[in-house]
Amino acid sequence: NANQSAISSVPGDGFVRVRGARENNLRNVDVDVPRDAIVAFTGVSGSGKSSLAFGTIFAEAQRRFFESVAPYARRLIAQGHTPHVDEITGLPPAVALQQRRGTPSSRSSVGTVTTLSNSMRMMYSRAGIYPADAAGRLESDSFSPNTAMGACPRCHGLGMAHTVSEASMVLDATLSIREGAITAWPGAWQGKNLRDIVAVLGYDIDRPWQDLSRADRDWILFTEEQPVVEVVPQRDRIAKPYQGRFWSAKSFVLHTLADSKSPNVRQRVLRYVDTGPCPLCGGSGLKPDALAVTVSGYSIAVLNALPMTALAEVLRPIVSGGLGSSEVAITLAGDLLRRIDVLLELGLGYLALGRSTPTLSPGEMQRLRIATQLRSGLFGVIYVLDEPSAGLHPADAEPLLLVLEQLKLSGNSVFVVEHNMDVVGRADWVVDVGPRAGEGGGEVLYSGPTAGLAEVETSITRQYLFLADREPVVRGELRHPLGWVGLTGITRHNLQGLDAEIPLGVLTAVTGVSGSGKSTLVSQVLAEAVGRHLHPEPDDVPVLDLGDPDAEVEFEERLTVAEVTGLEAIDRLVQVDQKPIGRTPRSNLATYTGLFDAVRATFAATDEAEARGFTASRFSFNVAGGRCETCLGEGFVAVGLLFLPGSYAPCPQCGGSRYNPETLEVTYRGKNIAEVLGLTVDAALVFLTDVAVAARSLETLREVGLGYLRLGQPATELSGGEAQRIKLATELQRARRGHTLYLLDEPTTGLHPADVELLMQQLGRLVDAGNTVVVVEHEMDVVAAADWVIDLGPSGGDQGGRIVAAGTPATVAAHPTSRTAPYLQRRLA
Ligand code: ADP
Ligand code: ADP
Ligand code: ZN
Ligand code: ZN
Repeated sequence: NANQSAISSVPGDGFVRVRGARENNLRNVDVDVPRDAIVAFTGVSGSGKSSLAFGTIFAEAQRRFFESVAPYARRLIAQGHTPHVDEITGLPPAVALQQRRGTPSSRSSVGTVTTLSNSMRMMYSRAGIYPADAAGRLESDSFSPNTAMGACPRCHGLGMAHTVSEASMVLDATLSIREGAITAWPGAWQGKNLRDIVAVLGYDIDRPWQDLSRADRDWILFTEEQPVVEVVPQRDRIAKPYQGRFWSAKSFVLHTLADSKSPNVRQRVLRYVDTGPCPLCGGSGLKPDALAVTVSGYSIAVLNALPMTALAEVLRPIVSGGLGSSEVAITLAGDLLRRIDVLLELGLGYLALGRSTPTLSPGEMQRLRIATQLRSGLFGVIYVLDEPSAGLHPADAEPLLLVLEQLKLSGNSVFVVEHNMDVVGRADWVVDVGPRAGEGGGEVLYSGPTAGLAEVETSITRQYLFLADREPVVRGELRHPLGWVGLTGITRHNLQGLDAEIPLGVLTAVTGVSGSGKSTLVSQVLAEAVGRHLHPEPDDVPVLDLGDPDAEVEFEERLTVAEVTGLEAIDRLVQVDQKPIGRTPRSNLATYTGLFDAVRATFAATDEAEARGFTASRFSFNVAGGRCETCLGEGFVAVGLLFLPGSYAPCPQCGGSRYNPETLEVTYRGKNIAEVLGLTVDAALVFLTDVAVAARSLETLREVGLGYLRLGQPATELSGGEAQRIKLATELQRARRGHTLYLLDEPTTGLHPADVELLMQQLGRLVDAGNTVVVVEHEMDVVAAADWVIDLGPSGGDQGGRIVAAGTPATVAAHPTSRTAPYLQRRLA
């Protein structure tokens, strides 16, 4: 068949053969990886798995593709790099599905990334029921709010509108204008100015607002006229008359919303507007004649807002022809249904097509893209995936495997970089890289059928892969809560009136299938409640740029928790997330942790530096003086190709050292400052033993498993997991008193089970020092080692949002219906 011939047309014999791979830490690796198979790349973090799968195999496939593209089109495609490898044979084209947050364009949605929206529009255009008076059939595009043809004329397709009313802008109508009846106007000087103008215009500013005539009130609030009058300030005899321009309350508010650059100022006026669904389109962003078209009695806006599980139930009867559906309706709905079923299998049924992608987790986003690939009709390609199980409850790993299996059955190769041993165990082939990280890794320890790894003694992965040999989690004594934070009446997303209690002074794991509400509870509700308690009036809040020094901005109380108790015990909140620690090569491990300050001071204290009058700032690459001025201390210069943002090349002046030659002449124990930045954490620990502050910081970095990173490794080269562990280490090195609440969302993402053990020791240290740690987690080794477990569910979306079980790991593991219980049970002694 076609698939077979496509594959056998690739030269070779069913293997991708890599020879002499030297990307990053790879040690001249030779490896043969089978095509038409599911291949797992394993190894501890930093061992070189990604350098092999993405940095070498995928990069080479992409490079070849790039070369085959016409030159004029090349600039449109982000080009990767040329990998350091002697030769790769048998390499088909490759598609990488990496975990990235959706593009922060709020107009991209579940429906657009899966292309299901196109099919929905087609169905409404061709098979929808039109009102009797409709002029004719609408084109597909008319059902999209993102096209000129379909957008609602009132909100331009955004679906949201700001409206103002007398009630929203005048909070107390018994006050006079002088007393501040028009709450929406700015305070202080600007407000008095407007008041004086109103008086000059002949309005009575001393009568209660409610006693003014309707016409006067409407003019003052809503007019678009802006008369300019001469005002004699009443409050200050020496002040000179000036020309004052009138702004109605409405023009002031809308102008501020549209033009103010300050989020705080916008925030202030937002209190005087009703922000809500656009009244014309009901929030759908669609024009009225598109909304009038129905399928099974529903408009496209209604179906876009339904979770896909419910949408499937609307489509199913159409497909079975039960509703006397037309041929074209059966065909189009059938196509939609088949594709939605794949998403349901992947446990994503709680998402609606209209959900915007920036609100999705990276794992949800990747699974959407995997499902979309199934329909792409591509065959004979290699899919390279990055931890497809990230964010997945063990119960959801099974359907994921089935989908990977389907990709393979349609004639593709599936290469996954993976830490989840349930997934690795089901792969056809394993490439284990190691034995350790960085310079201690970079070799292929094993490449062969999965079962064979059992014989490889040097492999760390082996100890975790074969569950039968695997000891249950060894845990310390259960710690007892020192107190409780109580949250009552939580209402956000699918948490509806939930009550939750979080123990203090212990390690709590929050579990549950994808979409059950874990992140909403921990990273949003709990974080906000504690944040608001700690910073009732954040000091960085109100700087009104309208000449209003004494205006007060209250915090908008979003009513998501009715009552919170027990927060008195907490005096600090730290969210340790996977966001990058910096977006330019200018920030790095050494600067972020602060250890570079100590290194610079050490260089400044050398005799050589003192003789030349070099202070610590001379050794900074961020300020003029010691740095290379060609690259301004970045070591790299941006290659200014319009279509290839983020491309860097080593600086031609300093060759990447970041410094000017005079600075580099100064050495400490035989190394110059650039050479110190080139050391790994492990090497620096030996080299900088005499610099106590730096040594302490390095020690904690090593303890979180980052000994292989170089001090100057730019933030742009770090993975999300590495960034998260750097943040954690930075926290650990600060010996603090007081009670900190640490919130972590899936800290084990990107971590080999061996590294998970290290991480747990660190979290244990934080708790033993009197702090509270709450982790959202799927890794059962972590859950088993926690002191308390809160299991959300039973499923995702509307079917979730409740606490199914809460208690010690043993209690939750014994729960009869919890979906976490059976997996947790396996890891308990
Ligand atoms: P893994 O995927 O096994 O976690 P990687 O392949 O990402 O490991 O990294 C292997 C080694 O290469 C690590 O020491 C890492 O710090 C280093 N490394 C990764 N990316 C880069 C890069 N762009 N430049 C320099 N070193 C890198
Ligand atoms: P989990 O962390 O357990 O995967 P989440 O807290 O992310 O679950 O999601 C819980 C529910 O809330 C899901 O139905 C999800 O679709 C919904 N949800 C999450 N974030 C948003 C958002 N920004 N907008 C709308 N719904 C959301
Ligand atoms: Zn509208
Ligand atoms: Zn330079």
